[in-house]
Amino acid sequence: MHTVIEASYFIAAILFIFGLKRMSSPATARGGIVWAGAGMVVATLVSFLYPDMGNYLLMTTAIFIGGILAWYSGKKVSMTDMPQMIALYNGMGGGAAAAIAAVELFGGEDHGLVFGTLAVLGGMIGAVSFSGSLIAFAKLQGLLKRSFRFRGQQFFNMLLLVATVATAAYIVTGHGDVNTVAIFFLLALVLGVTMTVPIGGADMPVVISLYNALTGLAVAFEGFVLQNAAMIIAGTVVGAAGSLLTQLMAKAMNRSLANVLFSGFGEEGGEAGEVSGNMKPIEAADVAVMMAFANKVLIIPGYGMAVAQAQHKVWELTQLLQERGVDVKFAIHPVAGRMPGHMNVLLAEAGVPYDIIYDLDEVNPEFRTADVALVIGANDVVNPVARSDPSSPIYGMPILNADYAKNTVVIKRGQGAGFSGIENALFFLDNTRMLYGDGKAMASELINEIKLL
Ligand code: NAP
Repeated sequence: MHTVIEASYFIAAILFIFGLKRMSSPATARGGIVWAGAGMVVATLVSFLYPDMGNYLLMTTAIFIGGILAWYSGKKVSMTDMPQMIALYNGMGGGAAAAIAAVELFGGEDHGLVFGTLAVLGGMIGAVSFSGSLIAFAKLQGLLKRSFRFRGQQFFNMLLLVATVATAAYIVTGHGDVNTVAIFFLLALVLGVTMTVPIGGADMPVVISLYNALTGLAVAFEGFVLQNAAMIIAGTVVGAAGSLLTQLMAKAMNRSLANVLFSGFGEEGGEAGEVSGNMKPIEAADVAVMMAFANKVLIIPGYGMAVAQAQHKVWELTQLLQERGVDVKFAIHPVAGRMPGHMNVLLAEAGVPYDIIYDLDEVNPEFRTADVALVIGANDVVNPVARSDPSSPIYGMPILNADYAKNTVVIKRGQGAGFSGIENALFFLDNTRMLYGDGKAMASELINEIKLL
């Protein structure tokens, strides 16, 4: 039986790794999810084969309830609510790792220095990740509207961290009575809350990615304690992938992780920025002519396209233009929207083929030869002050060079700022026109106008 269990874990690990590999391209990502899911099914079913396993009824009931809830919420969730869904699921992972640690530590068994340390580390990180992710969920869901800050907050958090680590050390050195273990978990849970409440809601995706990496680490540590290969491998893979993603997001926003965690960015609304000139409105009929007779159109979707759920209309518009012989490409910024891959997922959902979707580095040289850059619900990712104004909070962030196109048309509802809260110099340029309205409604108008031509 031992060999069957180990062999199954090996298969599960291979499925996790190949699944992750397939997730690196939108074309194969769906398959990747299925592969990784199959790995998880194998790893879960194998638990039933352990010779000393009991509580089958409890296990089956828990799997059944969890499975139904996950299936239902996964089917029901809308694309714009995906970040908080991920926060919630990630929190559950951290909580599960902490629960495993709790079983080991409350059991009072002496694990020795190495495994004892791994158990408390996994427990601490898992508990922080659990409560922190729940706060992230509450913020993104709008249940927690304010960020709580007070003087000396970072010092307080540091004290809490020191107290948690000291309690952990006390437990590992053989003083782990039930009360100390309970205090340890309580401190770690409070730390997760106090670390997360001061961070602005808009920074939550980066924070969730960080907690995701931490959850992976916690699971891997507990895997060592339980001598469970699947947990070690899955945890390490999640930890590594989460760390890389966190780094990538921070880099694409040109911010350090410390700045994300401690600065309160986007909370105070940011500097308005000094931009001269006026915004020049345009009618859909004129934009339709501009696009229909263009050779090359680059479409830049942003958060507003997600809010408007305009992706299907945008694809319809693209097809109309393609039928007229216009070369249409999508230009995707790595942090457009509110979660990594947000735009890619929306465009994939609408059926836009991957070969007309381009990343920032690939597409930026094309703007100078584009007749029209159509910005739909994007703001910060096309703000040229990121290149020109060292005092701007987004200075240094790589942007899509929409301002280099011959004509730029921006679809947005009004004068609303983007996530960073600053003014966008692109909107005031001579070759920029503003098409005011909801993203979906405006895309529909453009479709109708082009059909009339
Ligand atoms: P953005 O800067 O947040 O701007 C979105 C724009 O969409 C707003 O100016 C808004 O203007 C417009 N809008 C909202 N609803 C709309 C609707 N229904 N129809 C049309 N327009 C609408 O978006 P972005 O350019 O995509 O930039 C993303 C920002 O989020 C970056 O600053 C990035 O650093 C940050 N961020 C991204 C991630 C990630 O992983 N993707 C994570 C954390 C933070 P109106 O109100 O005037 O319509």
